[in-house]
Amino acid sequence: MKDQLLFLLQLQTIDAKVKELEAQIKTLPEKTEAARRDLAKLEAMVGVERARLTETETWKRQQETLLEREHDSLKQAKTKLNASRNGKEFEAANREIEAKKRSIIDRDKEVKKVVEALGQTTAQVVAHEADVENVRQTLATEQATVDAKIAALRAEIETVGAGRAELRAKLEAGLLKTYDTLAQKKGYAVAPVEKGVCRGCHTAVPPQLNNILARGESVEVCPRCGRMIYRQELLADKPAPAGDAAPAASSGDAVS
Ligand SMILES: [Zn+2]
Repeated sequence: MKDQLLFLLQLQTIDAKVKELEAQIKTLPEKTEAARRDLAKLEAMVGVERARLTETETWKRQQETLLEREHDSLKQAKTKLNASRNGKEFEAANREIEAKKRSIIDRDKEVKKVVEALGQTTAQVVAHEADVENVRQTLATEQATVDAKIAALRAEIETVGAGRAELRAKLEAGLLKTYDTLAQKKGYAVAPVEKGVCRGCHTAVPPQLNNILARGESVEVCPRCGRMIYRQELLADKPAPAGDAAPAASSGDAVS
């Protein structure tokens, strides 16, 4: 029975370690999650800036085309002026020329303003895009680190769990079934009884049961939490080093 108990405890140690490593793996992606969210926000912002810039550039090109056309029609108006055969035609051509000139001056001013603003905005957008690229690269580096850690943890799980199947094969079917059920329901299945108290649920076990445990002939179950219980001192083949054992034993005596 003692062998079975030892196997159960070894299995429990392995399972606890594997569980802990799996929990670590689960928390790792969270570390880059915030950075990823920030990056997505930045990308969206810079995307809007870039779209606005493109729009303004399109508008500028349209205005430049219009300006060219206005220069053309100014030329035509001047030709008309030269060809005018009477005062009425001359007046009309002159008015047209004046109107075209004003329109050209106004549009020219607008375009110059936009060109100036575009210079600044373009520099800003380019700088923001460079910032985003930096964040992207930092995140990629972090992600690679996280991936490497996950791979290392998976390898550790492999190593830790190496003897697990063998251990399970050594366990009696009934005990194994109880172990699995308890491990699933309670997190872990086997608990020591110290100073008459089950460490699984921190409840005193009945004195009679504690006496049965002292014989170490059977695997008993805690009446409160249902875990398989045992007396720690029965598992030690050789006496524990004096330094560790003495205070625990003396304090135990004092309490009970
Ligand atoms: Zn208990």
